[in-house]
Amino acid sequence: MSESPIRTVGFIGTGIMGSPMARHLIEAGYDVTVYNRTQSKALPLVKAGASLAGSVGEAVRDRDAVITMVGYPEDVEDVYMGTDGVLSCARKGARLIDMSTSSPELAREIHDEAEVCGQVAFDAPVTGGETGAITASLTIFCGADDDTVAPVLPLLKTMGSLVLTFGEAGKGQMAKLANQVALAGSMLGMVEGLAFAKEGGLDMDKMLGALLTGTAASSSLKTYGAKILRGDYKPGFQVRHYVKDLNLALTTAQREELTLPTTETAINLYSLLSEIGGDRMGTQALSLVYADEQTCADAGLDWSLLNLDDEDDATADDAGGRGAAPGGAQGADAGEAFGTGSLGSRGRDADR
Ligand code: NAP
Repeated sequence: MSESPIRTVGFIGTGIMGSPMARHLIEAGYDVTVYNRTQSKALPLVKAGASLAGSVGEAVRDRDAVITMVGYPEDVEDVYMGTDGVLSCARKGARLIDMSTSSPELAREIHDEAEVCGQVAFDAPVTGGETGAITASLTIFCGADDDTVAPVLPLLKTMGSLVLTFGEAGKGQMAKLANQVALAGSMLGMVEGLAFAKEGGLDMDKMLGALLTGTAASSSLKTYGAKILRGDYKPGFQVRHYVKDLNLALTTAQREELTLPTTETAINLYSLLSEIGGDRMGTQALSLVYADEQTCADAGLDWSLLNLDDEDDATADDAGGRGAAPGGAQGADAGEAFGTGSLGSRGRDADR
């Protein structure tokens, strides 16, 4: 372990990303206490050397640093601001780092309240996905300046290969949301190109190889292309979290009167996928929206769940703010935009 004032770490949220991240800290010699809402997900880390806490408060009391890697802004708010939460239980001088993808405003609120409590808090969301978490090669976007990050830099470098500082609280989240907006076009272009090739009866392995060597190649295609061809929709990065991220980005853009048509289309398509049962699938499952209904059914989706008359689909205002509820469609109604069947089955045989 390199020179750092940080020795003890409370780690909250040991899901797909948090588990391998916490494991790197344990392996680097930090004294790690873990807490997860569903306790069973934290137990493998206890086997690896972590202590188990029964609550957020227990996980963070007297720790030098606290890392949170939970799902939604609501979870972040609950973990930091709830009774027995991080802000009321962490010691003065503790470094509080939220690595979840969450709302910039909430990050600023947590920063300000922590300052009042004598703690130092900043947002530090990541890119690189599950693979980046496992291989400790995440890119970490810090909503703080270099001086604030310096004492925890060795800790962050245990989990990531690139640590960027964006100056002030909330800006790490802004950077992460910009990344998610940029990703939208890449994901949509990939699944649409593959659907087009399949419809044209092309050899799909050959086509994927061609795409990967040309200008259309992308990190999305490298990560997900082969998975899509073999029907592997396991997360990785869950659809429900991507819908959350895109809604957060759209809400922020709307406040600045910036229109993001690709992001809106991505929200519609991913919300539709979520509505027919794909909420917890990996984001590559967007390819199923273009597949025939039998392929969708085999993967566990059900197009009859699509409610075209659903008045309750979240509006921009509902899904915005800090919440960005899972599955909350914005812009045009997902069902109305895409009809009652998969894009790949309308007006033709399901098995074509
Ligand atoms: P995940 O597998 O759902 O993990 C989130 C974990 O947080 C779950 O184990 C959950 O517990 C726990 N949690 C939620 N609220 C909690 C609370 N109040 N107290 C204690 N534990 C709580 O999600 P993930 O894929 O690891 O993603 C985590 C965050 O990173 C999300 O914000 C996501 O958008 C972001 N992210 C994900 C990826 C990716 O590729 N997966 C990449 C970059 C960023 P339960 O088990 O009880 O639900």
